[in-house]
Amino acid sequence: MGTMAVRSTGDGPGATDVLVVGGGIAGCATAYYLARDGVEVTAIDAFDLNTQASGSNAGSLHAQIPHEPFVLNGEGWARTFAPTLRLMLASVEMWGGLEAELDAVLDVAVTGGLLVADTEAQMRDIERKAAVERAFGLDVRLLDQAALRAFAPYVSDRMIGGALCPTEGKANPLRATPAFARAARARGATILTGCALHHLETAAGGFLAHTDRGTIRARRVVNAAGARAAAVAAMVGVPLEIEGYPLQVNVTEPCAPLIPTLLYYAGEKLSLKQAKNGTLLIGGGWPARMGADGRPRLDRASIVANLGIACTVVPAVAGLRLVRTWPAIVNGTADWKPILGEVPGVPGFFVNVFPWMGFTAGPVCARVTADLVQGRDPGFDIAPFSAERYRPATAAA
Ligand SMILES: Cc1cc2nc3c(=O)[nH]c(=O)nc-3n(C[C@H](O)[C@H](O)[C@H](O)COP(=O)(O)OP(=O)(O)OC[C@H]3O[C@@H](n4cnc5c(N)ncnc54)[C@H](O)[C@@H]3O)c2cc1C
Repeated sequence: MGTMAVRSTGDGPGATDVLVVGGGIAGCATAYYLARDGVEVTAIDAFDLNTQASGSNAGSLHAQIPHEPFVLNGEGWARTFAPTLRLMLASVEMWGGLEAELDAVLDVAVTGGLLVADTEAQMRDIERKAAVERAFGLDVRLLDQAALRAFAPYVSDRMIGGALCPTEGKANPLRATPAFARAARARGATILTGCALHHLETAAGGFLAHTDRGTIRARRVVNAAGARAAAVAAMVGVPLEIEGYPLQVNVTEPCAPLIPTLLYYAGEKLSLKQAKNGTLLIGGGWPARMGADGRPRLDRASIVANLGIACTVVPAVAGLRLVRTWPAIVNGTADWKPILGEVPGVPGFFVNVFPWMGFTAGPVCARVTADLVQGRDPGFDIAPFSAERYRPATAAA
């Protein structure tokens, strides 16, 4: 690094050891863990920090296999997804210590996640899913109707049972990423906003990143660009199958403490939780629409359906007013698994993308990425998450 001639064409730093592309939770947390380890790091975002998925998600901390893809794809899929559970569980554990670590209020509460059912067929699905989850070390407790009533009296009488996963909860998406960014800066990270990466090229000893703030020479690059990660990877010829999908979340007026856990329903898309300020967040993956300008737009039918299901599962929701619904774009992969690690064939180019539930997994994936960048054992087998799975068969041969 020291011998490289560095010329900045803008007001950016000119050179850095590690360049992190993306200022969501993946990017800001990666910058934090690298800076904490004393690594020189610069993170950039095209917009302001936390403006995309990380700042507009529903704040659920998930540890279980998501029910809908399980029902759609079955146990074979669940077993290939299951290594991901170790990451999610480790991340929920990290969330428990993040307020102290980052010296910030993040509204973290790990009070459990409850999945409820109103048919015997749904109960059988829950039982099959719980068997896979337990085989991978997750604590999941089946509840019959009497146990459900006793544990969650706010749930509709039509629900006949469910499963409780104690290691789930919630945190505040408006606070988490800014807290990581603050802590990263305090440990010496440079974080630049309004700084889109337009081109990336490999160069002697690393990469040249052409950005809105000039050319930045970097020894290593971490792609933490969320739903745009495929475009960033394509700049260095790496195929990634990750796309953006528009979703929406609803929030009600505040009410007295009603729902202490994260709540899901096995019959339809639903995630329901009560934020610290008393409002109910109602989502679960209901689609928004993609506008012609590439920005997400609300879908009215999704609002009606999502709220209707929430009222079916928790009748008291019907007495509350809806305050706001917002759309945002989630990063999704078809197999639901993250893409992590150094990309084979492109030394120094790392990916840190966790799809669909990347708020939950943000802390652990960032710590794992920081370890990998420094050549350390991350403590997880990340082979199932390699970008290698997207390499065309002919190129891999
Ligand atoms: C409505 C909704 C609800 C969700 N609910 C939950 C939930 O309850 N629990 C959960 O765990 N997950 C949830 N998710 C998913 C979660 O929000 C995401 O998986 C996670 O935030 C991804 O984080 P990220 O940092 O990778 O991406 P992002 O937060 O999208 O950040 C990526 C950043 O990269 C920047 N970028 C992209 N390209 C470039 C470039 N070329 N140059 C510079 N910067 C660039 C973008 O501007 C962006 O800020 C939800 C998502 C949505 C949309």
